[in-house]
Amino acid sequence: MDSQTGRYSRQMLFKPIGPEGQTEIGKKHVLIVGVGALGTHTSELLARAGVRKLTLIDRDYVDKSNLQRQHLFTEKDAEEQWPKAEAAKERLKSINSRVEVEAIVGQADAALLDGLMEEVDLLVDGTDNFETRFLMNDLAQKYKVPYLFGSCVGSFGMAFTIIPGVTPCLQCLIKRLPIQGQTCDTVGIIAPAVQMVTAHQGAEALKILSGNMKAVRKTYVSFDLWENEYLSLKAGALKDSGCLSCGDSPEYPFLQSGREMKVAVLCGRDTVQVRPAESGILPLEQLVSQWRSAGLEVGGNPFLISVVKDGTKAVFFKDGRALIHGTKDMNEARKIYHSLVG
Ligand SMILES: [Zn+2]
Repeated sequence: MDSQTGRYSRQMLFKPIGPEGQTEIGKKHVLIVGVGALGTHTSELLARAGVRKLTLIDRDYVDKSNLQRQHLFTEKDAEEQWPKAEAAKERLKSINSRVEVEAIVGQADAALLDGLMEEVDLLVDGTDNFETRFLMNDLAQKYKVPYLFGSCVGSFGMAFTIIPGVTPCLQCLIKRLPIQGQTCDTVGIIAPAVQMVTAHQGAEALKILSGNMKAVRKTYVSFDLWENEYLSLKAGALKDSGCLSCGDSPEYPFLQSGREMKVAVLCGRDTVQVRPAESGILPLEQLVSQWRSAGLEVGGNPFLISVVKDGTKAVFFKDGRALIHGTKDMNEARKIYHSLVG
């Protein structure tokens, strides 16, 4: 037994996986969108399990309020405002150096994701918003790649495995089931709710990656760890042949992206993200010298630049996005963005 098979020996002793399943896992590339609570857990699990490659996408950087539930991150990451995807990559490489890890600091929009899907074997949900989930749902259908939906808030969580051509998709599911609209901003979140969702996502990932498709869960799962509730609902009948994402004549509505500036309130933070219509257009170096000559406080690291104006902190990324802190008001954030960028 060489060092690598020794490394995965307990996973290979598990009969449904075995040496053959382990070889399959070692060939696979998983795309994880969102590297917060869900994404840090599933990425760690899959790095330890020995996948070939992980691609991680996240638009945010580490904040100290993340440390309570987001594995992989340290106080140093928060102090240095390291982008989540890069901080996670560094940590994952120290956990399993054989796994190739690609970190993308950016907005998971249609253009970015579409360019990655051709070589991906599995799509894992680590996001905190349904706009991105519907986009992932359409991409999963278009490229026939399994998609592991997961979501949690408070002590509540849900998980569902979407296999294109077999199961209903997220659109089919959401049309028929009441999905909670709360965000972690308003009700908070406890870490075990995250782990319960990622336990489901992780198990499904191992089944799919090792080629055990018959074992894949066919039910939608939801639970509340505080209220001691667990629901496992047969979902097959929810598949809608007229669905625009997975039906007989799909149009993939979420892949028809708009080109206007997009503004979104970030989960769990007093923060609004402003994203210009064209990415990568900000002359950051020029702006930095303008801000400095105007006497503003400017800081940052190789991935981002922060600036404070009139007591409001804004963080600019290379792709043109900005996070405006200390507000949940989207119009106010837009104004601050324009006052800094002109
Ligand atoms: Zn559908």
